[in-house]
Amino acid sequence: MSKDQPGSPALRLAAAIPRIRIAYLSMEIGLRPEMRTYGGGLGMLAGDSARAAADLEIPMVFVSLVSREGYLRQEIDEAGRQVEWPDPWDPEQWTEPLGAKVAVALEGREVWVRPWLYHVAGRLGFEAPVILLDTDLPENDPRDRTLTHRLYAGDHAWRLKQEAVLGIGGVRILRALGFDPDTFHMNEGHAALLALELLRHRPGDVQAVREQCIFTTHTPVEAGHDRFPWDVVERVLGSEVAVADLRTHCREDSLNMTRLALELSGFVNGVAKRHALTSARMFPGVRVRAITNGVHGPTWAAPSIAALYDRHLPDWRHEPEILVRADYLPDDAMWAAHEEARRALLAEVEARNGRRLSPDLALVGFARRMTGYKRPGLLFEDPDRLLAIHGRTPMAVLVAGKAHPADTGGKAAIHHIHQMAERLRGKLEVVFLEDYGMALGKLMTGGCDIWLNTPLPPMEASGTSGMKAALNGVLNLSVLDGWWLEGCVEGETGWAIGDGAGGALHGQDAAALFATLGDTVLPLYHGDRKRWIGMMKEAVSKLGSTFNAHRMMRRYATEAYLR
Ligand SMILES: *Cc1c(COP(=O)(O)O)cnc(C)c1O
Repeated sequence: MSKDQPGSPALRLAAAIPRIRIAYLSMEIGLRPEMRTYGGGLGMLAGDSARAAADLEIPMVFVSLVSREGYLRQEIDEAGRQVEWPDPWDPEQWTEPLGAKVAVALEGREVWVRPWLYHVAGRLGFEAPVILLDTDLPENDPRDRTLTHRLYAGDHAWRLKQEAVLGIGGVRILRALGFDPDTFHMNEGHAALLALELLRHRPGDVQAVREQCIFTTHTPVEAGHDRFPWDVVERVLGSEVAVADLRTHCREDSLNMTRLALELSGFVNGVAKRHALTSARMFPGVRVRAITNGVHGPTWAAPSIAALYDRHLPDWRHEPEILVRADYLPDDAMWAAHEEARRALLAEVEARNGRRLSPDLALVGFARRMTGYKRPGLLFEDPDRLLAIHGRTPMAVLVAGKAHPADTGGKAAIHHIHQMAERLRGKLEVVFLEDYGMALGKLMTGGCDIWLNTPLPPMEASGTSGMKAALNGVLNLSVLDGWWLEGCVEGETGWAIGDGAGGALHGQDAAALFATLGDTVLPLYHGDRKRWIGMMKEAVSKLGSTFNAHRMMRRYATEAYLR
């Protein structure tokens, strides 16, 4: 909350409401490290969208769940396995309660929803309000009070109720507060029930609802889409929506939230060009646009890097296109700013894990949601070869990432990485940093030298951590998938692993990874620092100037919101 703004937050909200035209609904939103209202990349994107909207004075309101107990706090036990804890935060400390209250009928019970208000302060004093929905109210049945506690928890019925609180409760709260947006943006299918609520106000006028709705899809695989069996839908939502009508919008044997969102949205967006093509193939007949994701520069630039840009490229915070002139940054200053960011990361590694890493090692970073398709184990596929490379060109490997509690494959990957780290101990430093989140993400994408990404194409819809790295002059070494197909200029902005054709065998990608890392990337790092710094500046100028949230939100504003 920007306490320096005049007037109470509620008064400032009241003054802003009449001009707000666009509502953005997202299951999660990454506002600040202390507020656990996010799980990962989807939430970071929502947060960066809010930050850029505030900078650009786009008249938007953001709606999400309060998630009082967060997603999960990750600990690693003695055996190298993930242990999950609640990750609570106190809304009282960071947000203001608002007086409005609405009900959604779930399982036949009235579930009351109340809003908390947070303001994202833009660079020029404009604010983007964020409304966080809470069902933990004494008037609710005890079974419903915890609905908005944990992000992505529970069974089908639980998730559907959370999505009803977000979509239906979200639209009702906005109306109760006096908002009257023309446009509703669903960040992923979780918010799709909002379209049903709009339809309730305009019975039968599907076309009018489509004109109001924008849908950004993030999932390039069928299995990734939320689906709810019809009997669960009937039980949970039967007293709230006409399930028979719902079935006509979603002609499948279960309620597929992506289908519903597609059916009721007039503008559908994929999060990178390849992802839009993949989605269009998955949903024949739907036009899928491609506004590629971006990251909010002032949020993700390491302090030393931001200070460097402030000195040499003033206005980059508001107009990141100016980073195109990064070629003019003095080499010494670029390297000194990078070294400072690296020292901050190494200090954190030492403070957390007690491992003091030599500053002469090239730092290879890998931080992702731990799940099968991201292939977190690819780097450890051939430990002998990894050690041979390390012998010629020394490195250290930093790894972080949480696995969803139900993702046994992701959890196995975390355990495997710990076993490999143990096996390599004394020869090659592999450090796993617990509890990947916004603050650690910033330190890692600011302070590593090389940012590794090994998804199985075409599963990485976009990916944004590599954009954060590039903004900081950290060079990407990545499989050609998601945004990297647009960002990679081989040997200039970073490097590709393999040819991105897809369908490469696992072993081929591992071989390509070792070849590029061992023959090209690390020899350059240790052997030609001037050329390396040249590439860092290339990454900033070509990628930082393009893959930012300001560009993304300007495009959403002109192509989607004002269409
Ligand atoms: C940026 C970010 C992500 C998303 O990064 P990907 O490259 O899409 O995996 C996830 N989690 C955190 C904490 C982040 O900061």
